[in-house]
Amino acid sequence: MNEHTIRNVVIVGGGTAGWMAAAAFSRFLANGVTRVTLVESDEIGTVGVGEATIPPILTFNRMLGIDEGEFLRETAGTFKLGIEFVDWGGPGERYFHPFGFHGRDLQGVHFHQLWLRERARRAIPDISSWSMSAVAAAAGRFGRPAPDAKSAVKDLLYAFHFDAGRYAAFLRRYAERGGVTRVEGKIEAVETRPGDDHVAAVKLADGQRVEGDLFIDCSGFRGLLIEEALQTGYDDWTRWLPADRAVAVPCALPGEPDPFTRATARGSGWQWRIPLQHRMGNGLVYSSQFLDDDAAEAELLANLEGEPLADPRRIRFTTGRRRHCWNRNVVALGLSSGFIEPLESTSIHFIQSGIARLIALFPDQRFDPVERDEYNRQMRDLYEDVRDFVVLHYKATRRSDTPFWNHCRTMEVPESLTRKIDLFRGKGRVFREGQELFGTTSWVAVCLGQHIVPERHEPAADALDEEKVAAALAQMYEEYQAVAERLPTHAEFIERSGARS
Ligand code: FAD
Repeated sequence: MNEHTIRNVVIVGGGTAGWMAAAAFSRFLANGVTRVTLVESDEIGTVGVGEATIPPILTFNRMLGIDEGEFLRETAGTFKLGIEFVDWGGPGERYFHPFGFHGRDLQGVHFHQLWLRERARRAIPDISSWSMSAVAAAAGRFGRPAPDAKSAVKDLLYAFHFDAGRYAAFLRRYAERGGVTRVEGKIEAVETRPGDDHVAAVKLADGQRVEGDLFIDCSGFRGLLIEEALQTGYDDWTRWLPADRAVAVPCALPGEPDPFTRATARGSGWQWRIPLQHRMGNGLVYSSQFLDDDAAEAELLANLEGEPLADPRRIRFTTGRRRHCWNRNVVALGLSSGFIEPLESTSIHFIQSGIARLIALFPDQRFDPVERDEYNRQMRDLYEDVRDFVVLHYKATRRSDTPFWNHCRTMEVPESLTRKIDLFRGKGRVFREGQELFGTTSWVAVCLGQHIVPERHEPAADALDEEKVAAALAQMYEEYQAVAERLPTHAEFIERSGARS
């Protein structure tokens, strides 16, 4: 073994990011050589929000061999089929961004192109009527698709809502069973190595010193290692995503939990509504330029559907990304690597994605700049792609009822987004580039839901026989409605599948 062999991995922080990393490392790096230690401070605590996810979380759970029923019981989790957006395109409007697909493509032509062509001929239902997830969500129903299912239920894609605190505790048990050592204490100093400025150790308030070869910075927004010690720099995206504050409060469930997140646009931001088994998670995300903290809290409390179950929590953030997620021997995961506000529930995915990429590029013998640069390139692309998709929701609005929405509607947006909007506005074209997270269904749902309506459809759609297309659309429509009617309600499914907490 040479002197650079990486044997001690130290994770700094025990929020969602820290324990997700610890759980994954306990599974994939527990080769008898690598030792994983996690340092966290009960006194500092965690952000504690972050309750909605997107479908790739299923891959993370499978990677770890986590049983879905146990996971939901332990985290009081529910199923999520997408996000209902209320009042975004204009007051009184709503649309659904589903997981999965809109319809099925015919002879290589995208379904939404056929829908656009049909819609030019006659009045037809909204495109979400051709999404299995959206139809099931509207009916409050859920079913787990069997891999060999023949019916449209196989088009039903899902993710979860869960209690973030319980999730971290669940992963902690998993990681500790897998050999991860937890050290409790507050880090007061970071020691760097003379010569190459790599982090050598963290020093705790009680005098302990934890040495490592590779450090994973999961310390939250402050970026204890990546920023405070290594001064990596941060790209601030507030000019495109003006929200910089949130206030969160749980309340009692008003009824059975819906199998979807709701995001309701408010005067200076938007409000989330995330149903869990035992409570509803709520929060208002807003811009401090347009709304003060007391008014935001009052607005949130006035819009709850049940009794508040705790005091409201105020959170400040700066939307953007760390210039290099991997700098020297420190890899930032979670909020220390950047934050795009929670509108599309992507932060936990950034963590998962960072972990998967780090495992794929793991520096077991020495730090190779080629691997580091590749990691940083992939994470930068992921952040920028998601940023553009989230900015789209703010830019594509007809709202002019408040200064905040006037600002969003008229703001400059990244050139990469302008190009995508123009392509969609022309002939409804969506191209998924590289490893982009949000594909055709997502862009189509948000663009159409917020009035970016293509002038025409693609010429390829005209090549198909009109009557055959109309018949195929009618058949798919009926199939989705019929399948949804046969599914159990969301609450029944949780009960029957043994997921009740
Ligand atoms: P934290 O939770 O802040 O954890 C930091 C850890 O570092 C803690 O354990 C702390 O004790 C430790 N630490 C810090 N300093 C020290 C020190 N000096 N010594 C020792 N330990 C230290 N994500 C989603 O995917 N879906 C959502 O719906 C969603 N909603 C969100 C809503 C809001 C308003 C916000 C702000 C975020 C949301 N997120 C969401 C993001 C999600 O909450 C985070 O990505 C996730 O919780 C990860 O946080 P973290 O572990 O990076 O940081």
